[in-house]
Amino acid sequence: MLSPEELSRYSRNILLNEVKRSGQERLKNSIVTIVGAGGLGSPALLYLAAAGVGKIRVIDSDTVDTTNLQRQIIYKHSDIGQPKAIAAAKNASSLNPYISVEGIQARISRENASDLLKGSDLVLEGSDNFETKFLINDICIQEKIPYITAGVLRFEGMVMGIRPGEDACFRCIYEESPAPEHVPSCADAGVIGSMAGMIGTIQATESIQFLLNTEDSRSGLFGKILQVDSKSMEFRTIPICKREDCEACSLLIAKKLTV
Ligand SMILES: [Zn+2]
Repeated sequence: MLSPEELSRYSRNILLNEVKRSGQERLKNSIVTIVGAGGLGSPALLYLAAAGVGKIRVIDSDTVDTTNLQRQIIYKHSDIGQPKAIAAAKNASSLNPYISVEGIQARISRENASDLLKGSDLVLEGSDNFETKFLINDICIQEKIPYITAGVLRFEGMVMGIRPGEDACFRCIYEESPAPEHVPSCADAGVIGSMAGMIGTIQATESIQFLLNTEDSRSGLFGKILQVDSKSMEFRTIPICKREDCEACSLLIAKKLTV
């Protein structure tokens, strides 16, 4: 049930035929886990919190430093030195006290990932490394949790939605994690801060539409990859087919992990 204060707070959502009061209640009853409270996780968390997603968990092991503030807009200057997960949860809660935001200061690993992600209606992956991206992919497929993965570098970004069993997964495209020395990071190569904001905001928009789950609000990026080049402002959406011998989709990776 939504209180009078919540009905007022979310009135611009509720006005939409695709949302109404029932959709807003669905958002309130949703659990979303955000992996990585960085350039992508910051705007995604702010918009999901503002939209009234009832339970949000945010996982990150780092602390806030000066170089983060150019794009990680959930943090304030006064948060420098604080654990990101805790500062992000505190700032999202101060934006919307009618939801629950839990900050989990942990590095996600093969050992703890299932426990940390279990129970989520949706996972947002916005980490800065391929190892975590493959890990989230494998665990979400194994636990049958839909998830939206994204990446950003320099002036470019990508977003992809995956419903396990239905859509092609991250490993269908990339198969194996590239060696870290072959992959530039934002720390090495730079990134436009607002570009991370744009991609994280697309993740949030996709999430809200996915959680509403009505005929009119079908989200557009499941089974597809969106590539954005901000220099030319070209957005390309490409349908992705499952790879027949994908080890994640055929759950071979999960078997390997449990052997
Ligand atoms: Zn796959």
